[in-house]
Amino acid sequence: TKQEGRNSYRFFSPEMQLHSVRQLHMENALRKALERNELRVFYQPQISLATGKVVGMEALIRWQHPEFGLVSPLEFIPLAEESGLILPIGVWVLQTAIHQLKSWQEQGQPPMIVAVNLSAVQLRQTYFPQIVQQCLKEANLPAKYLELELTESVAMSQPHKAIAMLDALHALGISIAIDDFGTGYSSMAYLTRFKINKLKIDQSFVRKIGNNSDAEAIIDTIIGMTKSLNLETIAEGVETKEHLDFLRERGCGEVQGYYFSKPKPAEEIQIWLENWSN
Ligand code: C2E
Ligand code: CA
Ligand code: CA
Ligand code: CA
Repeated sequence: TKQEGRNSYRFFSPEMQLHSVRQLHMENALRKALERNELRVFYQPQISLATGKVVGMEALIRWQHPEFGLVSPLEFIPLAEESGLILPIGVWVLQTAIHQLKSWQEQGQPPMIVAVNLSAVQLRQTYFPQIVQQCLKEANLPAKYLELELTESVAMSQPHKAIAMLDALHALGISIAIDDFGTGYSSMAYLTRFKINKLKIDQSFVRKIGNNSDAEAIIDTIIGMTKSLNLETIAEGVETKEHLDFLRERGCGEVQGYYFSKPKPAEEIQIWLENWSN
């Protein structure tokens, strides 16, 4: 009816209309971003607390658009997922990160892995393990140097498919980390059935170290759980010495965050590495 029609308009504020115009515009621009070479991969170091050495680099995508400026992945990844563009973009990130690690190895940088974020859309592709294998083969990089990060919700959205997919990736020799751990819904039963290597403690808990005993208890519990399940732990969002000291004392394996370095372009990370590995 007319009444309902009018009512349904109530939900569109001018702001929301503006927002959706921006989204539409951005979706079109994203389509061209790959060919126009506007996408970048930044890297953020991961440090072992046992040795103090850099053991990995997380690859984080950036989009530098001439009109929108630097667009956060928090804004454009969901758009890329809805439109399916995440598939070519995801392959590009994999290729770029794998080639970068290979070139760091050839330069004689310390042994590191590269960690690449995965979206649920990528994991739903039946041929995803073959795609990853092809990317590794092209760069002649052994699978053990690649880690894939996926969130609990990505894994739990279709748990049976995820189990099969993670089995296949594991069989290739790739390592798997569960990102943002502790923020999503995950069942212990499934956790033991997923072939995973590492839990990544979410930065929302790390941020509260020193002023929230619940968050500290959750971190303790996650570290304890990884030990009994024989998994590795990494904490993200480490910004202060207090965060670092707490995590070291509680037996966390690896750390990553602004305390060490913000995500940076490969050339800047190389300079950072020279100052670190002394
Ligand atoms: P994430 O995977 O949980 O990445 C961690 C985010 O925390 C990154 O934001 C990183 O720059 C930021 N971060 C790192 N250290 C600190 C710190 O000490 N303090 C604070 N406050 N933040 C820190 P970023 O780069 O904006 O990425 C946001 C999200 O976008 C990522 O969250 C990930 O879910 C997604 N993303 C990024 N790159 C890719 C990609 O290549 N593919 C997919 N599918 N998703 C990606
Ligand atoms: Ca991540
Ligand atoms: Ca995370
Ligand atoms: Ca996240």
